[in-house]
Amino acid sequence: MQIGFGFLFLFAGGLSFLFWYISTRRPPAVLPISPAYRRLLQQHSVYYQQLTPYNQKRFEKRVQQFIQLKRFVPRNMPEVTDEMKVLIAASAVQLTFGLPNVYLLHFHTIVIYPDSYYSTISKRYHKGEVNPAFGIIVLSWKDFIEGLATPDDSLNLGLHEMAHALRLENVVRNDEHNFLKPHILKQWEEESQLERAKLRSGESHFFRQYAASDDEEFFAIAVENFFERPKQFWQELPHLYQTLSLLLNQDPLLLKSE
Ligand SMILES: [Zn+2]
Repeated sequence: MQIGFGFLFLFAGGLSFLFWYISTRRPPAVLPISPAYRRLLQQHSVYYQQLTPYNQKRFEKRVQQFIQLKRFVPRNMPEVTDEMKVLIAASAVQLTFGLPNVYLLHFHTIVIYPDSYYSTISKRYHKGEVNPAFGIIVLSWKDFIEGLATPDDSLNLGLHEMAHALRLENVVRNDEHNFLKPHILKQWEEESQLERAKLRSGESHFFRQYAASDDEEFFAIAVENFFERPKQFWQELPHLYQTLSLLLNQDPLLLKSE
């Protein structure tokens, strides 16, 4: 009887675990993108505008999925608008478009400030940051929009912060673990070490000086250049460009000729 009870208990426990597992692991059904969201992509996403109709549909689906998976939190402002959600999602989808479905799952919350904000931890003003301990991406909307305003100045806050999140996501052990091919990542690390050494030595460089800070900043700034100045990047640093293209499995130079 005791064994039977124990078994029943185990069975019921197992069953409820299974239901819990299925209900929590199953990704939410992707709703069709709303016409308002599509219009925002058509108006504001230069990357989306360059895609073929087939890839625009894929892009829309990913934007919709990204929005469904995140919690958007306004700070010092009344609400997060559709425009904010769509354009922030679009910057993440642009970066991950060549990869298998990667939605930066570890980062479940996106906090948006109207302008740069004061961090009590670093005691300085920030335009954006990625906090892996709390699974949060923080963005200043003013700086995010400024990043989009000039699409070829290699300054793009959205892509920059998403690039930080991407590298972290790759090492967090969840469903989206290890999606960057290890041998290409290793090649990237080696080439970026050489370039960072040049930057540190004061040699004039295609990347801005901040890229010398560390591997993470170098990667984020490389991503900004990859999408905003692909032709010059390829001309100045062809090996590095090629490696980043392999790592992200896409080539912005080929977008128009897809
Ligand atoms: Zn950074």
